[in-house]
Amino acid sequence: MAWQGIEGHDAVVERFVAAQALGRIAGSYLFIGPPGIGKSTFAQKLAGSLLCRSTGKGLLPCNACSSCVQAKAGRHPDIDIVSKPEDRATIPLETFIGDADHRMREGLCWRLLLRPTMGSRKVAIILDADHLAEEAANCLLKTLEEPPDGAVIVLVGTALERQLPTIRSRCQIVRFRPLTSETVFSILKHETARGTDIGQIQNDDAIKKEPDNDSLLWACAQGSGGSLQRARLLLDPMLAAFRCRLISLLSHRPMHGVELADETKLLLDAAGKEAPVRRARLRIVLESAIDFFRAALRDDLAGEPPCDQVLAELINAWTGGSEEAVVSLRHTLDALDAVNRNANLTIVVDAWTALLEQPRLTQTT
Ligand SMILES: [Zn+2]
Repeated sequence: MAWQGIEGHDAVVERFVAAQALGRIAGSYLFIGPPGIGKSTFAQKLAGSLLCRSTGKGLLPCNACSSCVQAKAGRHPDIDIVSKPEDRATIPLETFIGDADHRMREGLCWRLLLRPTMGSRKVAIILDADHLAEEAANCLLKTLEEPPDGAVIVLVGTALERQLPTIRSRCQIVRFRPLTSETVFSILKHETARGTDIGQIQNDDAIKKEPDNDSLLWACAQGSGGSLQRARLLLDPMLAAFRCRLISLLSHRPMHGVELADETKLLLDAAGKEAPVRRARLRIVLESAIDFFRAALRDDLAGEPPCDQVLAELINAWTGGSEEAVVSLRHTLDALDAVNRNANLTIVVDAWTALLEQPRLTQTT
């Protein structure tokens, strides 16, 4: 049975269960894995377990003590969660040490020095660790190296190479693997059957539209790249249809960059004016393109056709070759990075599509 309802990460659960049994829970952890697979939910469940007054076997919380009640309600005073504000490119320095007027009298590092309110320790969760600027990271180093008595700090990021070496070297690294399509499918099915408690992962209205059959859920699971978050977004019929269209445009030679740009912008406009929703949509587009180029590469170099049906059908149409796939992949990863740094989305779309249209011209630059 899944640990606290978390599917697909049994190896990580076992690691923490073993560490707790040996009394070796570390002070600083760095969770690494693709977005939308449940790392942040895991961190929060782990925090609840570590703070439970009578944690049971297998690091399971009792779910009855006052600590569990507060943790479950998301308002445990000893669980401190910080993240990158939506309108910022990085986590601001003041998040850790307070603003200029309250240096080390506010902020996460200061709060960690205070005595725990309910239990014996504090747990800090730093989301969006990919967006830790050097100055802010430097303020964290001492706290990571010598966490206050019993404190546990969990940083949550997507890729090891996106973390500063100074942070990496001070944390125990915990890798989370993408979920299998089967796991994503089973979670989606469970959620839709339940009528939709979407849990901790942010989402738009997509999940609320009850999908009519398993084949739709399976297609979303296959197109999710192992990310539950992405699968949930793909339940939006408009996004699912766009994904098929996108792959068809990408595989077509010559590629029509302007067409791709126009259709992508229409998709973003259909999402309304809210920046986070528009950004989430563009991320899905770019991530689907990344899947496509990776699949094209695997097909080209290793002769491994993708198991995703939509990709498998269209990958044969790809005539770009592995070199072009690599260059296009690089441009798409750069575009995704720009989206994550809050760049102007229209500019990102225009630049990305123009570069894809002319990969041979740009690959030597
Ligand atoms: Zn408890």
